[in-house]
Amino acid sequence: MKDKKIIIAIDGYSSTGKSSFARQIAQKLSYIYVDTGAMYRAVTLYCIESNFINNCELNVDKIIENLSKINIKFIFNNKIQKSETFLNEENVEKKIRKVEISNHVSEISAIPEVRTQMVELQQKMGENKGIVMDGRDIGTVVFPNAEIKIFMTAKPEIRAMRRYTELLQNGDNVTFEEVEKNIRERDYIDTHRDTSPLKKADDAIILDNSYISIDEQMQWFEKIFNLATDKQ
Ligand code: C5P
Repeated sequence: MKDKKIIIAIDGYSSTGKSSFARQIAQKLSYIYVDTGAMYRAVTLYCIESNFINNCELNVDKIIENLSKINIKFIFNNKIQKSETFLNEENVEKKIRKVEISNHVSEISAIPEVRTQMVELQQKMGENKGIVMDGRDIGTVVFPNAEIKIFMTAKPEIRAMRRYTELLQNGDNVTFEEVEKNIRERDYIDTHRDTSPLKKADDAIILDNSYISIDEQMQWFEKIFNLATDKQ
């Protein structure tokens, strides 16, 4: 039954285009889209603004103590036809995409208490299904029973070039080398942390989009979706 709503979990490495792909799918299916990376980025912003990160040292006790004060939500902006991230009622969509946040987010998201709080919130968001969620642990931890699980990957230098172009377009003053280093470091921390490391779920389908276009990617998804929903 194609009308029956399902959960679509998209995991993978940084800058593989997970968010754009997930958003495109959600739009096509009229599903809700949740960018879980934005949630960890918002927590990181909160920690920086509260001075819980000083000279690259994390005050983990303070972070844990203050977790209950962090309120994250997404509000759909009709003008730009996109959801935006709100941290304690402030629209932080632009702030959380900055390089400073990218430089600390993987350490913050490796804290187990941070993950527990975010995962609970994500599971609530998906209670009624009809959701596309992208992140690092969606198919393994957040929704292990998701009907469709996709694991996205692409060559690191191609990912770095995509991210670099995006940052330049946003007016960030960065070098390609800095971006590539950040991507490799995040990959390392994300795959090596103790709590919910990034890994492919056994039943996830791999999508390597190094050399395929966005249209081809969508055609690929449509086949997967039809197969999965025919089984429902
Ligand atoms: O997806 P994005 O690159 O914006 O995510 C930023 C960071 O947040 C990742 O590098 C990862 O450290 C963390 N993250 C995570 N679990 C998720 C989503 C993101 O640990 N589900």
